[in-house]
Amino acid sequence: MIRNQVINIKSGLLADKIASAQNILITSHHNPDGDAIGSCLGLYHYLAAIGKKSKIIVPNAFPGFLAWMKGAERIIIFDAHPNKASKIIEAADLVFCLDYNSFSRTKFFEKLLIDSEAYKVLIDHHLQPDEGFDYIISRINVSSTAELVYETITSLGHEKFINKDIAECLFAGIMTDTGSFSFSCNYPSTFQLAAFLIQKGVNAEHVHQLVYDTYSVDRMRLLGFCLSEKLVVLKDYATAYISLTRHELEIFRFQPGDTEGVVNYALSVKNIVFAVLFTEKDDGVRISFRSKGDFSVNEFARNHFKGGGHKNAAGADSDVSLDETITTFVGLLHDYRERLQTLISLEGTD
Ligand code: MN
Repeated sequence: MIRNQVINIKSGLLADKIASAQNILITSHHNPDGDAIGSCLGLYHYLAAIGKKSKIIVPNAFPGFLAWMKGAERIIIFDAHPNKASKIIEAADLVFCLDYNSFSRTKFFEKLLIDSEAYKVLIDHHLQPDEGFDYIISRINVSSTAELVYETITSLGHEKFINKDIAECLFAGIMTDTGSFSFSCNYPSTFQLAAFLIQKGVNAEHVHQLVYDTYSVDRMRLLGFCLSEKLVVLKDYATAYISLTRHELEIFRFQPGDTEGVVNYALSVKNIVFAVLFTEKDDGVRISFRSKGDFSVNEFARNHFKGGGHKNAAGADSDVSLDETITTFVGLLHDYRERLQTLISLEGTD
């Protein structure tokens, strides 16, 4: 069923493609997160270290708490510079697709990528990658795409080129995609890599502060509001959700990234195994799903909201109203009641 379990690294072929490429482009997904930006910049600095220039394009702005990463100012934001970015995509002969499994995740340049004749290399840890990539490095039992970027570099025989800049970006990717080493990280390799990156000069405590201790006052108050006013607990379904209207976001002067991590708080409630955040946007509703244990939010998001992601973390977009989206969601829970309740009993109670 899962067809991306095999890591497919033919270092000869990839090495040749990199060596002969004239215009290398690195891309990542819409609403880029720490893993997206850390992976792109880690790969960018690696390519620089072996003497290859590259460019990075992401669909839209990334959160300010990632801007400290070396080279972040060079990332081209597609929706801010569509003409310039389109020309770069059209000129590319080698495209790296990082931290996404479908061209549609790039939203604004999906078609440009599909139409591009460049050699397309996927490096990603999401389930079920789409067709259309020429070279696939995809595995789900890793912490992050950053970890797979490291594996790609070592498979090319280039671990020795990993410098502090590369190490910091990859560390940030791993740290953010594991909620500071609290989920998707039950692998010795993740911690071995973290140790290796610290050996390469990463100050793990400092990176943590740069990413997590940068809340604006508005963002902190928005989190407080979510938890005190907006958290809905459906005890019978072991489910909790938070919803935010556009108006509420405006009150707290919402900036991209401000709701990052909010959904995890809902999952921290005892006997909650399924948590959801609904965020009203200009063009619909963004839904973030989180779960514990065997309840696959990837399947839930795919089956009901045309979304997807990982087993325990997934996302989707809804094009009906916020109220309608929530009503649909709550209605769906009836069918999952037994499964969700079984999971609480597995979690153990007092
Ligand atoms: Mn990721």
